[in-house]
Amino acid sequence: MRLKNITGSREVVAGSPYVVQESIQQSCPGTWKKIFGNDNPVFIEIGMGKGKFIHTMAKEHSDTNFVGIEKYSSVLLRAIQKMEQEELPNLRFLRMDAENIDKVFGPGEVDRIYLNFSDPWPKDRHAKRRLPSREFLARYDRILKPEGRLEFKTDNRKLFDFAVEELEPGGWRAEAVTYDLHGDERLMEGNIMTEYEEKFSAMGNPICKYIIYR
Ligand code: SAM
Repeated sequence: MRLKNITGSREVVAGSPYVVQESIQQSCPGTWKKIFGNDNPVFIEIGMGKGKFIHTMAKEHSDTNFVGIEKYSSVLLRAIQKMEQEELPNLRFLRMDAENIDKVFGPGEVDRIYLNFSDPWPKDRHAKRRLPSREFLARYDRILKPEGRLEFKTDNRKLFDFAVEELEPGGWRAEAVTYDLHGDERLMEGNIMTEYEEKFSAMGNPICKYIIYR
């Protein structure tokens, strides 16, 4: 999802009180309790897009802190606009490339990670850029609590099969795997649809999901 050339999006991001600004990101590890002003668990979504999922999650779970991470200002802008319409004290944003995620969160500072409809990067030579790749799993391993969980949803079967194969080399195990989330009553409990999930499930695409731990 890339909305190109939205005039002023960088300025809006730079001036938004909901965004933890790039200038202070390096000093964030170990300070997330202070940023939110409480000891509640921290759940993050990497590649949140326009933020529908994380905004709804934050609204429904006021006793949990949420951080939405997005690479592009032009996309993050939409999530900021949502917050301006309905401000939530337990939701903050980071505009950054998730490659540096372990420089913004300290060891074990994150309780749960969500990857939703991550970009597939179909060429083999770009496999390292896929958010569920072993390279990214190693970064998540550094910031996720020992008992933490990572949840991944996608309609892209090739990407999902790749993601499942990446688990074992990094010492991850699956707690749940489905190739048809919307047909799985148990895993659908409390499911919040993302923008892409709404779009692709409406087209009849089955949604794959795993929940993993190590
Ligand atoms: N999660 C949303 C959903 O399910 O509707 C959006 C999915 S969209 C296909 C993927 C999003 O991830 C895009 O907005 C893209 O800019 C963002 N993204 C991709 N790679 C990223 C990275 N390395 N760091 C941060 N965001 C990234």
